[in-house]
Order: sequence, then structure tokens, then C-alpha cells
Amino acid sequence: MTVVTRFAPSPTGFLHIGGGRTALFNWLYAKRHGGKMLLRIEDTDRERSTNAAIAAILDGLKWLGLDWDGDVVHQFSRAARHREVAETLLAQGRAYYCYATQQELEEMRETARKEGRPSRYDGRWRDRDPSEAPKDLKPVIRLKAPTEGETVVEDEVQGRVVWQNKDLDDLVLLRSDGTPTYMLAVVVDDHDMGVTHVIRGDDHLTNAARQTQIYQAMGWEVPKMAHIPLIHGPDGAKLSKRHGALGVEAYRSMGYLPVALRNYLVRLGWSHGDQEIFSTEEMIQSFDLKNIGRSPARFDFAKLENLNGHY
Ligand code: GLU
Repeated sequence: MTVVTRFAPSPTGFLHIGGGRTALFNWLYAKRHGGKMLLRIEDTDRERSTNAAIAAILDGLKWLGLDWDGDVVHQFSRAARHREVAETLLAQGRAYYCYATQQELEEMRETARKEGRPSRYDGRWRDRDPSEAPKDLKPVIRLKAPTEGETVVEDEVQGRVVWQNKDLDDLVLLRSDGTPTYMLAVVVDDHDMGVTHVIRGDDHLTNAARQTQIYQAMGWEVPKMAHIPLIHGPDGAKLSKRHGALGVEAYRSMGYLPVALRNYLVRLGWSHGDQEIFSTEEMIQSFDLKNIGRSPARFDFAKLENLNGHY
């Protein structure tokens, strides 16, 4: 099996340092296994995606020395294919039209708030006859998710993660204006692009359960997943700007060398004994998913500074 990884940024801003690390891990894993790393720009959110951000991301990757295989895939250009998959699921009875109004959804959220539990869609259109549909409402398409049993993600970093299906509601695949949701688009694209390994931040772990349900409904093989703990600040809190949550571009302007940043980023969450300095080839040869820790890495300017001085 040829390893195929991908980096899939949303072009809503510069290439963030965390995104740079995700790209690096995907690149190293692909190189290590003689595979490919693909690049997909997730520009389905038309309001927040900009060409300037796309340019900044490509530029940041090139500066870091991370190349990708084949052409850049723009997710928005695949919207017809995403719709086709939603319609396939509909035809197979694995998805359904839902006409719940905004007000009804708000009532469900309100009830959940009062009962002190997470809000979930109650499945009211799951088995309803479409002839009962209000004529003036455009429906969304929802996945008919399993209501019993468990959804399991065997994560290469997090281990076995289990969700009770009763806690996961019927997610929206296609919005009422016919545009795909992020959840559907990611699954269809990863499948069609032949992605074998999804390596990304662990803020996507719950999405992995939802996405697994879509793979299973389509009868597609679920790729291997590795959810990497996010980078935190030296104080253990979410990484703030002051503590390094900047674009790769900012590090470039501050005079850091790409080789130093790459070497620093690789050890944020991954380790190889005590070794601190790696040549690119050594990095590739020693990189694996096994040695990625489960606790958040801490960003430390002083260490980066030190490393930069080494080159
Ligand atoms: N586009 C998503 C993001 O930038 C990543 C999606 C994914 O890796 O599956 O957070």
C-alpha cells in the first residue's frame, strides 16, 4: 500500500505555526514511507476563504521546505461530487431530508440547555413521509446515523476512542442551499484522493467519529487517523500570540531560518530519544507516529532561539 497523506488547511488566514507542524508531520510520514503528501485547500466556506490566505499558505509551505505531490486540490471545485454522494446516501435510505425549522432547532437547544446536556437534533424527520413536507421550506440532508452501539476510532496517537452512538445525532451532510458541510466534503475528498493516513490536530477528534459514520454509511474504508495534541504556550494554556501563535510568515520576518523552525517544530509533540538536531534526512528516517505524545507540546521561544543559533 502506498502511503498517501494530506495537508488540508482552510484558507482563512496565514499558515499558522500549528498548521506548519501538521504539514511537516504529514510530509515526514509520507517521505518516510516513500508515499505522497497531497495538498487540499478547504475553501468551501466562501465568506471566510480568501486568495490572499491561499497565497500565504502556499508561500509558507514552500519557505518551510515542504513540497506536495500533484496539483493543489480546491475543495469548492468538488461541490458537485459532494452533492452526488449525499444523494447516493439518500437513495440508499442512509440519509434523509429534514425540514426542521430554525425555531424547532432552537427549541431543541433550549431544552438541552435546561436539562444541562449537550444539544442534539432529535431525529424528528428520520422516518417521516416526505409528503408531509412543508412546500415552502428547503430541506437539509441528514445522515441516518446509527442510534445504538458505538462508533470507534482506532487512533494512532490517542489509542482507541469510543463514542456511544446515542450521543451522536444525525449530522447535516448538505445544507438547504445545496452546499456540502465540512464533514461530508472532508470524507468524500479524502476517499477520492486515496488518502491512507489523516494526520491533524486533535481538535478534530470528535469530527473523526462523525466522519467515520459517513465512511461506514458509504461502505468505504476508513483511513488511519492520527490526532496530534495541539501546541500550548509555556504556561500550559492555549497558545497565545505573545507565546508564539503566529504565522510562519512572522517567524520568517523575525529572521528565523526555515531549517531551524522545521527542526524546532518536529520536536513539538514528537521525540526521538534526546536528539535535538536533525538533518532533513535523519528527520525523515526517524519519524513515526508512535513517538508522538498524548499531552500538548509547549512552545518555547528560548529553545527556538537557541536552535536558530546553531545554524
Ligand atoms: N480544514 C481543516 C482545518 O484547517 C482541517 C481538516 C482536516 O484536516 O481534516 O482545520
